[in-house]
Order: sequence, then structure tokens, then C-alpha cells
Amino acid sequence: MKPRIALIAHDKKKDDIIALAAEYVDFLRGCRLSATGTTGGRLANELGLTIERMHSGPFGGDLQIGAKLVEGEIDAVVFLRDPMTPQPHEPDINALVRACDVHNIPCATNVSTGRLVLSQLMLLARKK
Ligand code: PGA
Repeated sequence: MKPRIALIAHDKKKDDIIALAAEYVDFLRGCRLSATGTTGGRLANELGLTIERMHSGPFGGDLQIGAKLVEGEIDAVVFLRDPMTPQPHEPDINALVRACDVHNIPCATNVSTGRLVLSQLMLLARKK
């Protein structure tokens, strides 16, 4: 089965998630991707990725991804949070990260961990 990956980035981290996804774009083309609204729009427009787009994060997109995860529909989350800017939807962000911990789903919250998670998923997918 194709790896199912959720991609989310706060506004000041959106350039970073585009750059990260560009590094893995060939692999990501073979995955089932979901994203919050604005992040997903940029990934689709700038990298040509096919993505299931949820609502924007502040309007419930993180919660929608969390709900998919709880249903067993997400294998990994790359969530580039902005640690320097307060977010209006902080409770939703915490809920998603908590859901990852409850369900033992890898959740990369910075670029370095994102690379580790995507590299490992790529290796695992090649072995299958
Ligand atoms: P966005 O949402 O991709 O719609 O900007 C991300 C977030 O703020 O959680």
C-alpha cells in the first residue's frame, strides 16, 4: 500500500515544507498525500503533487487530519510548526500532535526530523 503522509506547515514554515517536499518529490508522487488547505495548495501548485486538501489549519484542517489519523488512515505526519509565533488554533495543533502520540504515528515537527521520517519511509517503500 502507498504510504499515507500528512503535510502541514505554519505560515512562516511554508517555504521550508516546499523545499523539504521538493527534496523528496519523486517519492511523494507515489504516496497518498493529505494537507491542510493553504499548505496543500502550495504543494500542488509549486510541485505538482496530488493532495487531498482539508480546510485551512485555523478553520479545522488540523482536526480533520487528526480524525483521519485516528481512523488509521495516516502513516506519518510532517507538521512544521512555528515555535516563535502564537497560533489561534493552538488547541487543534496540540490535539493533532497528541493523537500522533496516542496512536504511535511518527510526527516530524522540524525539517531535520522530516528528512529522517521521509527517508525511512522511502527505504521501507523500496523494500516492499
Ligand atoms: P494551512 O494550515 O496549511 O491552511 O495554512 C496550517 C496550520 O496553520 O495548521
